[in-house]
Amino acid sequence: MGAILKHFACVLLLLGSLGGCSSSDLPDEHYTLYVFGTLVEVVVPGSERAAAERIMPQISARFVEMHRDWHAWLPGEMTRLNAAFASGQPMKVSPMLKGAIRQAQLFEKESDGVFNPAIGKLIGLWGFHSDDLPVGPAPSPSAIDTLVAKHPSMADITLFGNMASSANPFVALDFGGFAKGAALDWAAQELAANGAPDAVLNAGGDVNVIGTHGDREWRVAIRDPKGWGAIASAALRPGETLYTSGNYFRYHEDRGVRYSHIIDPRTGYPVDEIVSASVITQGDGALADAAATALSVAGLDHWQEVARSMGLTDVLLVDQQGRIHLTSQMKARIRLEGDTKAGALMIEDLGMP
Ligand code: AMP
Ligand code: MG
Repeated sequence: MGAILKHFACVLLLLGSLGGCSSSDLPDEHYTLYVFGTLVEVVVPGSERAAAERIMPQISARFVEMHRDWHAWLPGEMTRLNAAFASGQPMKVSPMLKGAIRQAQLFEKESDGVFNPAIGKLIGLWGFHSDDLPVGPAPSPSAIDTLVAKHPSMADITLFGNMASSANPFVALDFGGFAKGAALDWAAQELAANGAPDAVLNAGGDVNVIGTHGDREWRVAIRDPKGWGAIASAALRPGETLYTSGNYFRYHEDRGVRYSHIIDPRTGYPVDEIVSASVITQGDGALADAAATALSVAGLDHWQEVARSMGLTDVLLVDQQGRIHLTSQMKARIRLEGDTKAGALMIEDLGMP
């Protein structure tokens, strides 16, 4: 696992002429952190090194706590809360978890329910509450239908003061679809507030950029869902985030059939039409992360609607046939990499600014 992560992080480093120095003569500083099973590379200009060095241990310690508190199946705050929901009891929640529940409620609403972090029981049923990739028979249709019929939703959760309760005992939180974005947003804020306002945080191709890098833009790879390389790259402006959701590396395998870890809450079955979704937002990694997952669920017929209702302009999807669907705004800012054929591009105008 360690070797895979290392390889992953190396290949997905920022592309282009970005190594070396920013506007000052000092070389950039690189730090490696770890959150939710992913390596996070943080690059800070040399001129901000002292500040970064002071704050980095706190960020690292908080990432460890978030990993524990937000874990969907190991003992921690979230599993305790899920147990409280199941037994109909209210429970005290930390300010950070409360904030994330609020965010998740909004994402579910804005995505018209395709992003739904209350479906933890379904995700567990498909075998994804394990560090190992699940193999063997898929769950029975009746077990799936039973859970879908319970309609777990973030809207079932009530927050009052520092307490949370659920009107639906089948609600089980799984923040795997936006936790990384929320963690990088928090770390970016901490860096900016503590004297390191110009940085790039890169978690295996999911990226938050803050501030500037001298007069250069940060060019970032958009992962190829079928390999370790990149299908395209985009220059990110200060404050932008780029997140990609893919089916290729985490799946349930049964007799040669691969089932994605992204589940359609409406049917209870894994998605298969879209193999990868990438989204750029302005200053909101949690939204980009949630949106990339949501668009994977929305599918070829509905992604445009969900993109509009989530307020997205820059979207790129890869379907099962290898075709690339993207907004005109995204098209205007990407550079295709490798052997991606321009003819496979399907450009959509969402009619947004
Ligand atoms: P990502 O890699 O950001 O697309 O997140 C995938 C993870 O999100 C999965 O491993 C699940 O933990 C969770 N997930 C799966 N399906 C959904 C869904 N429809 N809505 C919200 N979270 C989901
Ligand atoms: Mg996501």
